[in-house]
Amino acid sequence: LKILGIETSCDETAASVVVRHADGRGEIISDVVLSQLDEHSAYGGVVPEIAARAHVEALDVLIEEALLKAGITLNDVDAIAATSGPGLIGGLLVGLMTAKALAKAAQKPLYAINHLEGHALTARLTDGIQFPYLMLLVSGGHTQLVLVRGVNDYERWGTTIDDALGEAFDKTAKLLGLPYPGGPAVEKAAAQGNEKRFNFPRPLVGEARLDFSFSGLKTAVRQAAEAAAPVSEQDIADICASFQRAIARTMDDRIGRGLERFNAEFPNPVEQPALIVAGGVAANRALRGALQALCDKHGFRFVAPPHHLCTDNAAMIAWAGLERMALGLPADDLTVAPRSRWPLDSNAQAMLGSGK
Ligand code: ATP
Ligand code: MG
Ligand code: FE
Repeated sequence: LKILGIETSCDETAASVVVRHADGRGEIISDVVLSQLDEHSAYGGVVPEIAARAHVEALDVLIEEALLKAGITLNDVDAIAATSGPGLIGGLLVGLMTAKALAKAAQKPLYAINHLEGHALTARLTDGIQFPYLMLLVSGGHTQLVLVRGVNDYERWGTTIDDALGEAFDKTAKLLGLPYPGGPAVEKAAAQGNEKRFNFPRPLVGEARLDFSFSGLKTAVRQAAEAAAPVSEQDIADICASFQRAIARTMDDRIGRGLERFNAEFPNPVEQPALIVAGGVAANRALRGALQALCDKHGFRFVAPPHHLCTDNAAMIAWAGLERMALGLPADDLTVAPRSRWPLDSNAQAMLGSGK
């Protein structure tokens, strides 16, 4: 099975051709991504209108490039998969409408994919991970702990009640005058800092629910920066290091509880249980170190797909389509509409409810 994937939900325009071999193994044949970072960085965040226009300009070229690099034409694919939510509606419209037009013209089935499902299933493409497993998605727009029971079978165990983790990094960077996107800048500054100088809050630590909260942390950073004004380079480094430490400690508690819950729900696993990370913040070494240590402690395998497959890409969307096809799940009608909000677990419920 061979599929063309399209991703336009945020600030990356992407197209990819992925194959699923008879033994179930996936192979990325081509994977092109155009980041709009430069177009948004002057504004310190993603501007929806600019994003939508940039998708319009780039998408057709990127699709051609993905097909060309794969050495095929549209006629050679078995289906087309496109992100249809959640995300910025302008970008989703561009990707989904393009996919519909291609599907109609080439008479191929269309799969409207939930972006979060793409992240959730990536580890099966890269590492052949078996169900069930836990996925921690940490990006600019999402912070979720999800039980992945199977394709189309997801249970969200925790989510942020305010800012996403990547957003906390970006806002902290902005406060400190560091460049956008904030994550890499904060991590770099933290390397020179004293992580024990500031004792930042660790929101929700100790609570039984598995949710996250990061807005209080951002406020504490602002107060620390104001108290230290005028901030020196060393102050910035110390704040960043202390910020990352607070996050590592918070995740240690939150995710630790998640791993314990997993072990309680699946006491006799066939394979070693696994925690998968996805999203741009997965690049952060302090976070990775904390998660690795936590997994070692609880007997979990820690899986972090390569960075370009953790951030937004079309290979994961293509793969989610292939997983659906392989299970015989129905393709989507060409009347399908994009959804700016589309939680992963109600996706499963909606499918069950409609008798599909
Ligand atoms: P989504 O719609 O999936 O939420 P997104 O574009 O907001 O997409 P990604 O592209 O997956 O998210 O990731 C971008 C985020 O990752 C930004 O908030 C960025 O600051 C953060 N990030 C990137 N590298 C690092 C790092 N080394 N440490 C911490 N955060 C990082
Ligand atoms: Mg992005
Ligand atoms: Fe994403």
